[in-house]
Amino acid sequence: MNKITKPRLLIALLLLACALPVLAWAPLGHRMIGDLAERHLTPAAKAEVAKLLAGEREPTLAGVANWADELRNTDPDRFKRTSRWHYVKLSGPECAYEPAKECKDGNCVIAAIEAQLAILRDRSQPLDARRDALKFVVHLVGDVHQPFHASSHDDVGGNQYQISLRTKLKPEVYAQKNYVDGVMGTNLHAMWDYYILGETGMHPRAFADDLARRPWPPIATSDANPTQWAQESCRLIDAWGTYPDGHKLDASYGEAMRPLAERRVLQAADRLALVLNEALDPGFKPQAAP
Ligand SMILES: [Zn+2]
Repeated sequence: MNKITKPRLLIALLLLACALPVLAWAPLGHRMIGDLAERHLTPAAKAEVAKLLAGEREPTLAGVANWADELRNTDPDRFKRTSRWHYVKLSGPECAYEPAKECKDGNCVIAAIEAQLAILRDRSQPLDARRDALKFVVHLVGDVHQPFHASSHDDVGGNQYQISLRTKLKPEVYAQKNYVDGVMGTNLHAMWDYYILGETGMHPRAFADDLARRPWPPIATSDANPTQWAQESCRLIDAWGTYPDGHKLDASYGEAMRPLAERRVLQAADRLALVLNEALDPGFKPQAAP
């Protein structure tokens, strides 16, 4: 902290404040992950999900997938207490995880997934606690697969990498003041949360159907390991050349990066189904990795 001069700190905080509403794959990505995962639940896990989500406005994994971000408006105090659960900062080119430094008191996405899974699995916990744990798990497994939620770069997960993006996709309401003549003033994190998937213009269900039909490289399903998921995300940032050459982007960036974003959505869904089956179906036996 003492290395940062006051004006620079102010600017950093200002940029952070501008970026704050975007915290995750936007609702589109989270819905798709919930929808795709639900297709792979065992009957016993499905029945337990139905029991836990009874009374929800939309009692499906897709329907609750964005709840943890919606707390910002529905329960701001709780959102404040849990806002660090949506990401983790990793270190260096090897994307090392240093929990003592970057996950104090369990406040990062890796520890939060593990803690919420433990509550979900424990049938002696009150139903309400398990319901909320399920909603957190659905959301956070999605977040940890968004590469910029587990970055090792020193720019707050791309939030400090400003871009101007020529796009036909109208931004979410809170950001429309930054959209002028088809150009959106935003940042690299938001590009990944919202624009790369959103620029397809597809409805979440149709998009999920489309992904489910495509031939995908085999995904190892025996790796219920949030640390590994975060480190994969972190390594993909550089392996895929996700940092653009400059700060002016158009639709070609989204097109180039979409295969990676789609693959991460599918992996998130696959692993979400795996951990939910393990947590909710006592008879579940995962298959060996391909
Ligand atoms: Zn989130």
